[in-house]
Amino acid sequence: MASLTRYRIGGPAGRYGRFGSHADLAAGLESLEGAAYRVLGWGANVLVSDRGVPEPVISLSGEFDCVEMAADTVDAGGAAGLPTLVGDARREGRAGWEFLEAVPGTVGGGLRMNAGSAETGLWDRVVWAEALTPAGDLVRVQAEEAGPAYRSVQLPEEWVFTGARLAAPPGDPAAVNEVHAERRRLKVETQVYELPSCGSIWKNPGGSHGSAWAVVDRVGMRGAVRGGAQITERHANFIANLGDATAADVVWLMAETRRRVHEAEGIWLEPEIRLWGFEPEELVSVGAAS
Ligand SMILES: Cc1cc2nc3c(=O)[nH]c(=O)nc-3n(C[C@H](O)[C@H](O)[C@H](O)COP(=O)(O)OP(=O)(O)OC[C@H]3O[C@@H](n4cnc5c(N)ncnc54)[C@H](O)[C@@H]3O)c2cc1C
Repeated sequence: MASLTRYRIGGPAGRYGRFGSHADLAAGLESLEGAAYRVLGWGANVLVSDRGVPEPVISLSGEFDCVEMAADTVDAGGAAGLPTLVGDARREGRAGWEFLEAVPGTVGGGLRMNAGSAETGLWDRVVWAEALTPAGDLVRVQAEEAGPAYRSVQLPEEWVFTGARLAAPPGDPAAVNEVHAERRRLKVETQVYELPSCGSIWKNPGGSHGSAWAVVDRVGMRGAVRGGAQITERHANFIANLGDATAADVVWLMAETRRRVHEAEGIWLEPEIRLWGFEPEELVSVGAAS
């Protein structure tokens, strides 16, 4: 999985399949006969255990990798890159897409994560989204049925998002260009793009605790190194792979940070990243669900 994830970390998958059409995907899901599986986009938010992930891993390609602009909407497939979607929206002068500037990943992964900024998530732009269920049914949902919240959505984990229609009203091209450039400048300046990472490790705890990076910083973990992994100096909510990091290195830094934050501030940080293939006690140590 190291070659399939942005972190460049992780052992093998039980099985791996890439599906380029609805028919192939439905047949692939059917062949699993109800067994659990994982859906992978660009792996920009997934840390895979050094032992690998026992479940079959599926991803989308082919007909799912498309972006088509219409008068005031855009249709995007589940495998389309968020950078392609955002780049097209910017070039066409469509308003309201700067919140996803410099966010790596696919539309499918973005729907699952409700990717975006602190204020805006992808579901804020959804007219409808489509998903294939394990039973092979194609379902269409609107944003209000999906229960989107900060970096989450209340739809079954096993649904595979195959595409979405998104609002993309025309804007003032010059103003659109300017807000995109400013958002990109801010992200590249304050975050870490030159080393493998999964972006923000923790969700912002909010309230008086503020941003996750500030909490991590207050407990003295900024810059901490374990093996080949480091909590970056530039952004204390990023853990970078310096070259030969293992998943165990990243998990150690997460568990230690979480322990210190609880001791100092009485809160348990909640991970934003998804962890695959870990033992229950490892997941508990970082506050993750299985
Ligand atoms: C440098 C950097 C900056 C980042 N900045 C941001 C940011 O500003 N805002 C933000 O929100 N995120 C950010 N991220 C995290 C990441 O970009 C997003 O979470 C993105 O949505 C991940 O998309 P993906 O396709 O890589 O999903 P993956 O990492 O492959 O998967 C993430 C989750 O989505 C599920 N999934 C993937 N594809 C599908 C599908 N088709 N159907 C159903 N489920 C699916 C997976 O099972 C998994 O649970 C950043 C990451 C990096 C490395």
